[in-house]
Amino acid sequence: MTAREPRVIVIGAGVAGITTAHVLRERGFTDVTVLEKGSDVGGVWYWNHYPGLRCDVPSQIYQFGFAPKPDWRDTWATGAMIQRYHRDVVDRLGLAPLIRLDTEVIAAEWDEHRHWTLTTAAGQRLVADFVVCATGVLHHPFIPDIPGLADFTGPVVHTARWDDELDTDGKRIAVIGTGSTGVQVVSALQPRAASIGHYVRSAQWILWAPMWLRQLPGAAAVLARFPKLHRALYRLMALGGSALLTDVTTRESWRRRAVQGYARACLRIQVRDKALRAKLQPGYQPLCKRQVVSGSYYRAIRAGNAELITDGIADVTARGIRTADGTHRDTDVIVLATGFHAHNYMRPMRVIGRDRISIDDAWAKGPRAYRMTAIPGFPNLFTVLGPNSPTGSISLQYTSEVTARYIAQWLEKFRNNELTTVEVTEQATTRFNDDVATAMSPTVWNTGCNSWYLTEGGAVDLWPFDRATMDAMLGSPDPADFHLG
Ligand code: NAP
Repeated sequence: MTAREPRVIVIGAGVAGITTAHVLRERGFTDVTVLEKGSDVGGVWYWNHYPGLRCDVPSQIYQFGFAPKPDWRDTWATGAMIQRYHRDVVDRLGLAPLIRLDTEVIAAEWDEHRHWTLTTAAGQRLVADFVVCATGVLHHPFIPDIPGLADFTGPVVHTARWDDELDTDGKRIAVIGTGSTGVQVVSALQPRAASIGHYVRSAQWILWAPMWLRQLPGAAAVLARFPKLHRALYRLMALGGSALLTDVTTRESWRRRAVQGYARACLRIQVRDKALRAKLQPGYQPLCKRQVVSGSYYRAIRAGNAELITDGIADVTARGIRTADGTHRDTDVIVLATGFHAHNYMRPMRVIGRDRISIDDAWAKGPRAYRMTAIPGFPNLFTVLGPNSPTGSISLQYTSEVTARYIAQWLEKFRNNELTTVEVTEQATTRFNDDVATAMSPTVWNTGCNSWYLTEGGAVDLWPFDRATMDAMLGSPDPADFHLG
């Protein structure tokens, strides 16, 4: 029989989508289209451009294994630099012709002809044999339902939709939320604000790191001159980084206690004022939430024009914010650093699978997938960075690549006429999710804090295993876990 070329549509051109496009092209697939709703590639790095945005993972690790960049200027790159890197990678690897920007997919339906029909916001219809959802995790901004917020007469801006025209200099600024974003934005806006009020509902542990450090002088030249050395170093750092992070997060050990001790020392050493320190002291273990890293937040919040406000917000008025103790603070600008709907994945896209089952119904009790990538009821559909992706431990670039290589193996079976449809079984998915639940028990994420890692049902939506387990689970498809047609 002759080979057939699968028509593949990848949704999203962020880290996961760029990786998938590269891997599929490298494996010789020629009918690959990437649909991206933004006006540029980069995903989270395209949408986020708030002041102070800087990746808190060192740049020599936070990059694609297949496109290492020797000449990062900073040890921890800014958001703008990372976004430029994504654009460069797409251009350099010749992926741009595969990508259609400004193309939002609003629906995907599987039909009896055994293919997917996708509908875009502009009403265009596209047909594919396989769909890969690379739609990201931290994508849909969460806007809190605070009484009176709509009545505020000044600007209200969510950090993930920052208005670059917004002038905050000399203004009285309120920042709500103290995740990684809130901490970065407060540190950046405080020096030039008239005043800054940081509204904190639950304090965060904040690890100190010298985020302003430049890459070692001469390092870029050496790494560029010796690409093999660069790749070896990248591999070493990525392996070491994920081994350490997996170790401290997934099992109780002296190493976990050492990192937690460091977090406690960071607060004790940097904040000498006992009253302020008490307000900054979280009531749960360090590392339980996504760890915040900053070299400047404690300095910013100690400044004369800064105030840490831990009384709950009662309401927002036309001119400011009133807290539960009755205090009203006049405010010019409200910044919502309130995070994301982290468990939407491809939704609100309308995804209709076999027997007209919708993804909302399939995930009524929370998102679930087999090994992060396959969903029962949805043949020929895969996710990259789907449910249980390791946002707390292993590099997302690495995970994307391993998952894309796994998907490519299924596509090869289609190309070789070994199958037309592939759908994971309910039993295999349940077995995987049971294993996840068991492995989650000794993790630090499960030690009693509220974080975006938790689904509405209270499950931790992360990867509780190590990198070797990921490699083994996604190394090659296990046909016994699938219905093949
Ligand atoms: P987040 O960690 O989910 O934090 C949201 C914050 O908003 C929390 O402090 C939350 O308080 C608060 N909040 C939500 N609703 C509220 C309300 N009604 N009243 C008062 N406070 C409210 O979101 P994020 O800071 O955007 O970070 C999300 C993730 O993005 C990070 O964990 C990280 O993975 C990623 N990120 C990475 C970087 C980087 O440098 N690599 C930078 C930024 C973000 P509670 O804790 O009480 O719920």
